[in-house]
Amino acid sequence: MSPLTHFFGSWIIAAATTDNSRDRKLVTLAGVLPDVDGLGIIVDMARSAYSGQDSFFYYQYYHHYLTHGWPAAVVFTIVLTCFARRHFRTALLCFLVFNLHLLCDLFGSRGPTPADIWPIPYGEPLFHHPIFSWHGQWRLDGWQNMTIFVFLVFLELWLATRRGYSFVGFFNQKLDKIFVDVLKKWKRDLFGKSGK
Ligand SMILES: [Zn+2]
Repeated sequence: MSPLTHFFGSWIIAAATTDNSRDRKLVTLAGVLPDVDGLGIIVDMARSAYSGQDSFFYYQYYHHYLTHGWPAAVVFTIVLTCFARRHFRTALLCFLVFNLHLLCDLFGSRGPTPADIWPIPYGEPLFHHPIFSWHGQWRLDGWQNMTIFVFLVFLELWLATRRGYSFVGFFNQKLDKIFVDVLKKWKRDLFGKSGK
């Protein structure tokens, strides 16, 4: 799935399971960080621009290989937990959310043709096994992923008006307050005074 979908899904889980903004951000990060092994696409784009020929070597070689397995889950969980307020809870959540990312990729990361199934090499880069794949994997840009993304965005906006903070707080607390106030006003205008 796309990093944005992972972000919203992880944020919603983090908001429901943590009690402070720092741990919330850490758990959200754990759900997005697996995709750092896709950053090779930046190198590919630079190479393509320089040579004039399309190349996705680094993206295709490293994405889902370096940080889409349990070794990266353990490393990221340890590193993120170092910054946590509630260590045990955050460690558990980071590990779970990280693995949820991998599960979601197993469901929806296929390329354009049915043959382009993208497996999850769960032991890499340390071990070659196990490798998980699913023959029903849907396209990365398929309607299933789009539907999940739109659903998560609307769910988050609705939840934000109830809890008083939103995903914007991941980036900036002041902006978040303004954003949530606007959301609450829209909700009042749409649904009446109670806003429920
Ligand atoms: Zn991923």
